[in-house]
Amino acid sequence: MATAWIPFLEGRYSPTLDIWPIEAKEFNRIYKFYENLREGKFTTTKCKKCGRVAYPPRVICPECYSDELEWIELPKKGKVAVVVEKWGGVPICYEPPLIDAWIDLGEDSPVKHILSRMINCPPETLKEGDEVQLAVFDVPAHPIELRKETIRAERVFFAFEPVKK
Ligand SMILES: [Zn+2]
Repeated sequence: MATAWIPFLEGRYSPTLDIWPIEAKEFNRIYKFYENLREGKFTTTKCKKCGRVAYPPRVICPECYSDELEWIELPKKGKVAVVVEKWGGVPICYEPPLIDAWIDLGEDSPVKHILSRMINCPPETLKEGDEVQLAVFDVPAHPIELRKETIRAERVFFAFEPVKK
């Protein structure tokens, strides 16, 4: 039954192995991050008290513990600083290689570097200095219980991909 929600598991594993976050605002205090992604925006939180920008987004400032945070936009393009291709020990939901990159978002970005999974890029092609951009994609919806009713909560997630030349 759970397989209807999580096709890649093909009935073999429990839905607790679902790798995607439950994004519905009833269950997730950074749901705004996913709403923004859906609109094509890449965002994180900034503390209104001390100005600290944190990535990934937080619900409490890691510097001064204030919960007065605001959402700010991050660049959707960057340059590869380091790339890692994992061929072994890849989680069950991914086909190897799993490609991750440390991405330089540039001097003007409030967050200078982020780590992201890379998609739409053939193995052994990505290299330092390559331009990459945010890619938002749909992931399987999640069933949530709301007032004794089960509804399907649509979900998205993100990775980065090479900018086509
Ligand atoms: Zn703060």
